[in-house]
Amino acid sequence: MRRIGVLTSGGDSPGMNAAIMAVARSAAYHELSLIGVKHGYNGLLCKSHNIHDDMAELDLDTVLDIADQPGTYLRTARCVEFKQPEVRERAVENLRKMGVEGLVVIGGDGSYQGAMRLCELGIPTIGIPGTIDNDLAYTEMTLGYDTAVNSCVSDIRAIRATSRSHDRPAVIEVMGRHCGDIALKSAASTGAEIVVVPEVRWSIDQVADRLNALIARGNNRVSVVVAEGAWESMEPFDVYGFLTANGVQCYPGEVISSPRLASILKLKCGMVEARATILGYTQRGQHPSAYDSSFAFEAGNLAVKLLSNGIGNQVVGIKDGRIFYMPIADALRCKRSFNMELYNLINSL
Ligand code: ADP
Repeated sequence: MRRIGVLTSGGDSPGMNAAIMAVARSAAYHELSLIGVKHGYNGLLCKSHNIHDDMAELDLDTVLDIADQPGTYLRTARCVEFKQPEVRERAVENLRKMGVEGLVVIGGDGSYQGAMRLCELGIPTIGIPGTIDNDLAYTEMTLGYDTAVNSCVSDIRAIRATSRSHDRPAVIEVMGRHCGDIALKSAASTGAEIVVVPEVRWSIDQVADRLNALIARGNNRVSVVVAEGAWESMEPFDVYGFLTANGVQCYPGEVISSPRLASILKLKCGMVEARATILGYTQRGQHPSAYDSSFAFEAGNLAVKLLSNGIGNQVVGIKDGRIFYMPIADALRCKRSFNMELYNLINSL
């Protein structure tokens, strides 16, 4: 192998740039030239009509300075048409035109599906788990998760300071569409008293009862941490009916949201005020933590080492705190296990 490529795909996550830098340094060490592919799998499709705008040689000197930066230097995007076999064949033709013989894909489970398909078409590909959600079961941590949790911890602490000062509860929404790990870990790390996640069925009344019980025990500054996907696991609740009956302006058919949950809890628990804060992209655009930076460094190096030995169709991850690799298909078959003990602890102490 003389030339490999690297791309970032799906949602951005802190540590993607550190992984690109590690891939570049390792490629130089293994005497491989490196192509940076822009905008995820879109770059392989040469949408800019000039292949060199989509795939360009990555200059080691440039990427040496990006490791500590948030975001991804290569840009990232979704590429829906990559699910079509004929589109992927075009991608492989373009890779061959550029002399790219192996690829490192930094992304989540969707990106891994694409990587597996490229392997089937003869392009050895290695996946690095770049996603803040921590929703890939084969690895103890995904790249960016630790940074996202630290970002939430810092924001939740700030919100708790105001909750404490004003003796009022707060609802804080964090990311995680199908996986409540960010919510769970950041709630446990900040002393939040209530957490709701997509993995566990819950109801507004249950949360209100818990909040009332905490208030009765003298805690009127409770933090309710909500994973963004937790609305899917919520028992149905008539938001419009409840709020209009209590004199709050609302639209017929309005669905639940963090601000609405805060309003409902305020009414159900007789609080003067309860505010919601949605942390959103602040969790993704952070400088990578030491943990994520060093994970990226090891993952990038291992990915290139595997390709330089002619090994593809693998993903790298962390097991017992150490970097390892396994076949993509096996990794995607692993089933996640949710930390129910921690969930119960947060919601019951
Ligand atoms: P993530 O990688 O973070 O899970 P997505 O699920 O959006 O993000 O997937 C990122 C990209 O991976 C998609 O836009 C598409 O280009 C590619 N992809 C996803 N699923 C498949 C699939 N089944 N076959 C081929 N490519 C896929």
